[in-house]
Amino acid sequence: MTAAGEYVDVVIVGAGLSGIGAGYRVQTELPGKSYAILEARESLGGTWDLFRYPGVRSDSDMFTLGYPFEPWRDAKSIADGPSILRYITETARRHGIDEKIRFGTKVVAAQWSSAASRWTLTVRQGAETRTLSCRFLYSCAGYYDYDQGHAPDFPGVEDFSGTMVHPQFWPADFDYTGRKVVVIGSGATAVTLVPAMAEQAEQVTMLQRSPTWISAVPGRDKRADRIRELLPPKLAHRVIRIKNILFNVGFYQYCRRRPQAARALLTGLTTRILKDEKLVAEHFTPEYNPWDQRLCAVPDADFFKAMRKGKAEVVTDHIDTFVPEGIRLKSGRVLQADAVVSATGLKLLAFGGISLEVDGVPVELSDRFVWQGTMLTGVPNFAVCIGYTNASWTLRADLTSRLVCKVIAHMDRRGYPAVAPEPETGLDERPLLDLAAGYIQRSIGDFPRQGDRHPWKVRQNYLLDSATTLRTNLDKTLKPVRRTPVLQNV
Ligand SMILES: Cc1cc2nc3c(=O)[nH]c(=O)nc-3n(C[C@H](O)[C@H](O)[C@H](O)COP(=O)(O)OP(=O)(O)OC[C@H]3O[C@@H](n4cnc5c(N)ncnc54)[C@H](O)[C@@H]3O)c2cc1C
Repeated sequence: MTAAGEYVDVVIVGAGLSGIGAGYRVQTELPGKSYAILEARESLGGTWDLFRYPGVRSDSDMFTLGYPFEPWRDAKSIADGPSILRYITETARRHGIDEKIRFGTKVVAAQWSSAASRWTLTVRQGAETRTLSCRFLYSCAGYYDYDQGHAPDFPGVEDFSGTMVHPQFWPADFDYTGRKVVVIGSGATAVTLVPAMAEQAEQVTMLQRSPTWISAVPGRDKRADRIRELLPPKLAHRVIRIKNILFNVGFYQYCRRRPQAARALLTGLTTRILKDEKLVAEHFTPEYNPWDQRLCAVPDADFFKAMRKGKAEVVTDHIDTFVPEGIRLKSGRVLQADAVVSATGLKLLAFGGISLEVDGVPVELSDRFVWQGTMLTGVPNFAVCIGYTNASWTLRADLTSRLVCKVIAHMDRRGYPAVAPEPETGLDERPLLDLAAGYIQRSIGDFPRQGDRHPWKVRQNYLLDSATTLRTNLDKTLKPVRRTPVLQNV
């Protein structure tokens, strides 16, 4: 690892999907710069290494969740966790990015000095604490807490005699063969777990407070397969990405502009599979419109097929209390359970929990606006990587990494030691992630805000972003930071 006092030009925090992509962009677009990736864990891959629950997979297609510069070669378009981890690991190896990673290195604090035009990072390696400095700090630390999952206060849970499991901390030896399992939740994790666990469990019940929009999608993309047969890998990857981006943007816009038609389309599709209108109306027709919350995709309708086989059931009700034999619901029904999986969401955490200071003043994140969804007002030479919530994360993450490289090159060209975005007056504030999911609503107040207009608004539109982000006039909003700036709180 680094000796105390070591300097690198760019520090990337996190060796997940985003951090590896950021490493690729920094080394190809800023070849003269030194960089390091600081990773708290002992392995790379982030999300795709941490989550080990049965069936773990993406619900985005891998041609867009993968990197634009590294073709996705596996057969399945919607891939399982281990294949995604392999892809990230191989990409890091192929491009020598793995050599830049310092594992077991958690960044706990970052202090900016305008006098030195440097960030000083406090990093923890086991019991040791060290420092290193950099000119530009880029947080690719994801958006949730790796140490704790979201754990709702379930009444009476201490009376439950079975096993409680959280998907984020899946016990490797957890054997549920022939057992009755209840999965609490209705998001992507719950709909993944149900069919996967139903293969061995006696019965799996998904307990949801309210329905979620779920759409069956093909696990294998036949058109993509055809394109891959005809074209060389890199070109095929590009063509399939464009096809999928256009389809996804088009479908999202359709849902937003014609919500009633989208509702009818999705309920019609599910009814065709389940052949039970009442069941679909009761458990799969949310009050909110498609894409008010992230839409869950189920490859090859596996979730619905498990229901049709009688191995899985959905119950829409509220928990009254846990009892020794399972869960008593508000309706009075008792769900018998040998094991309960709490798939109720993640605990959000901004920027890997790093505490930021600018010239001795702590940065209150909720006082800041994001510029282009990446840099923070009043925080020099700092950027954060946040993906889309309505499309594959990497589409936005990669654009952001390229923008960060452009900002650094711009500083060099102009001879600026540092830059920070200067806010416009009269911005209407909005939460950074504009999704209604409960776990996002609970902690989004701890994150910076977005504004109501470009470039302060985090647009959920890759076509617009890809046309404008890298053409943005940096002189307009990014201001050079003087040697002893007065910190403004917006
Ligand atoms: C189960 C699951 C399924 C998902 N499926 C999809 C999907 O299908 N499509 C989609 O678009 N998105 C999906 N997502 C969102 C997903 O998190 C992103 O797609 C993507 O993996 C995020 O990558 P990342 O590198 O930004 O963050 P992460 O994968 O979270 O990686 C962050 C890395 O930073 C490290 N780190 C954090 N804090 C620090 C610190 N202080 N110091 C040093 N290192 C630190 C972590 O250890 C980790 O390795 C899913 C998320 C989950 C949990």
